[in-house]
Amino acid sequence: MTMRTVRIRMAAAAAVCVVAAVAAPAASASDAGLWKLSFRAGTAGKEVVLDSAKCGACTEEKTASGRRLAWRGLDLEQGDAAVDVVCDISRNAERGWDEYRISVANRSGVFGLFETEYPRLGPFLKKGEGSLVRPGGCWGGQRLRENVRGRFPFPDWASPFQMAIFEKDSGGGTIVAALDPEGCVKFLNYTDDFRFSVSTPAVDAGVPGKAGAPCFAVAVRPFDGGWVDAAKMYRSWSAGNAMWMKKGPLVSRKDRSAAFRDIGMWFLFQYNHSIPLSRTEDEIGKAVDLVAGRFPIAVHMYSWHKHPHDVLVPDYFPARDGFAEMVARLSKKGVRMMPYLNGRIWSWDHEGFKKAEKWMCRNADGTLHNERWGGKDFSAVCPSSEKWGDWLVVLGKKMVGEYGAGALYYDQIASMTAVACYASNHGHPVGGGTHWVDGYRKSVEKVHAALPDIPLTSENWSEPYTDMFDGFLVWGPNVGNDVPLTPAVYSGYMSPFACRVLRDVTDQAFYALQARSFLWGAQTGWEHPWILEEKYRNRLDFLFKLVEKRRGALEFFADGEFMGPVENRVRHEPLKFKVLRWGRTLDAEMPPVMAAEWKSPAGRRIVAVVNVADTPRRFEAGGVSLDLAPLEVRIVDL
Ligand SMILES: [Zn+2]
Repeated sequence: MTMRTVRIRMAAAAAVCVVAAVAAPAASASDAGLWKLSFRAGTAGKEVVLDSAKCGACTEEKTASGRRLAWRGLDLEQGDAAVDVVCDISRNAERGWDEYRISVANRSGVFGLFETEYPRLGPFLKKGEGSLVRPGGCWGGQRLRENVRGRFPFPDWASPFQMAIFEKDSGGGTIVAALDPEGCVKFLNYTDDFRFSVSTPAVDAGVPGKAGAPCFAVAVRPFDGGWVDAAKMYRSWSAGNAMWMKKGPLVSRKDRSAAFRDIGMWFLFQYNHSIPLSRTEDEIGKAVDLVAGRFPIAVHMYSWHKHPHDVLVPDYFPARDGFAEMVARLSKKGVRMMPYLNGRIWSWDHEGFKKAEKWMCRNADGTLHNERWGGKDFSAVCPSSEKWGDWLVVLGKKMVGEYGAGALYYDQIASMTAVACYASNHGHPVGGGTHWVDGYRKSVEKVHAALPDIPLTSENWSEPYTDMFDGFLVWGPNVGNDVPLTPAVYSGYMSPFACRVLRDVTDQAFYALQARSFLWGAQTGWEHPWILEEKYRNRLDFLFKLVEKRRGALEFFADGEFMGPVENRVRHEPLKFKVLRWGRTLDAEMPPVMAAEWKSPAGRRIVAVVNVADTPRRFEAGGVSLDLAPLEVRIVDL
């Protein structure tokens, strides 16, 4: 978590698509607006945009499994007939979906492809007919009925999946997914009338004669049932194809961190340099006493260094006086200490920035990539650099060797935007492609190799980082329209931890948010030390109850597959409360009795049920009938 300067992510609505196919039969030859290509003379030079809606008629021919639409001899400069565009729309009978592919030929001596928007499809819903389950939020998806528009970068915590699910209220719907096994940088575009497209920055962007169109297909498939059914289709594709799934499920991975799996509960300390370390040590000691050896605890510690937070990254030293000694004493008590590091950005104020500037990401106009955090300037380091991975190793070894860290947290890597880097001196093709994800995979693997016994974690989660880290800090409150898209697709392949609920909520709100996080598979906790105060003992006791239930069923919550939320057939008045999220107060509504089904790798199934109300409640669903006491957590075999 880095102090954020407010940034506007919402972009203008995607360009209007006149007609497009939703599912088979796919787009016809008369369809317009199926693609839009931008070409540039160099990355910062003159731009020419070709839009299929304005490119005249195409030819159409049948192929073995579908159709081919072709536009040939399109002009970038008058009369140059430099560009051919071919769209193949084919039926994948085995998967039951249509696959949209595009190829571009470019004979220009002046222009190169800069960005491809394809396919431009929809509308997939009528207003009021259903919801878009749009990738985003700490649990992977948000169900939205309106205000869905935007251009969202992938990978990014705000767009952690390269797919979207359009769900009808009456059941069923359509899933649209970029079948990109390497996770190249791209944008997902949505409009308020439920149209959808994928924009992909070109590889070798703007290089004359180059045509780096995306080489992956975009699949469109109708589904029956609900969004979970669509998510499971995507899970099936990802498990068999995606680069980040090659290491297999966690239970079969020899490199899995048993230490991370064993963590029971998290605490968050510091974030304020004015708090003396002695006070923090006393508070952590209190946590140790309260847990009384029932399960291992881990502490995420910020502000352990003398610089203020976020000021001179990626340099952190020297540490505050007495930090190493404090960690040593707490480690002896069994506390796994995880200090904060940032793994992605470099401060413009750091004395080494000028020297390192050549390795920073560059914008298309040649200027330095810039991000503002806490009112200061930073650049994202291009992870294609071997030196960046080496530096992450140096930091990690120092934290473990000299300061006794028991886990390492590299902020932002799995959370923040992957940057299309237009630097021409980095050794990767200018523009889009896989250099971002590939660079981080190599860098993080270096840290694992150097410190094989140390769990590595990062902030939030996005698909391409699934296999890189032992844990993902899904720290934001899960409220309102969030849905557990991440566990529906990636449970058993990645481990989420943390649920932070600010103290200024009602007890019921605290219970509800923590319970849902537990049901969705997270290791519990990550509260500030207020949770240790006597007046909040009821909340801490509830967390302890969740921890112990989870630890009794790790074959499900840590190793298994989340099969989906289970809706209680008994209607109870929903809990209504306010919660703070990203500085805004939101109204939230959640049922008092929540449940989820999990399946172990061996095929056992359970339903976990929590009653967060302060009165007894009944649960009936899927053949399970229970009377639950107030704040009862029950796990039932199916
Ligand atoms: Zn670069």
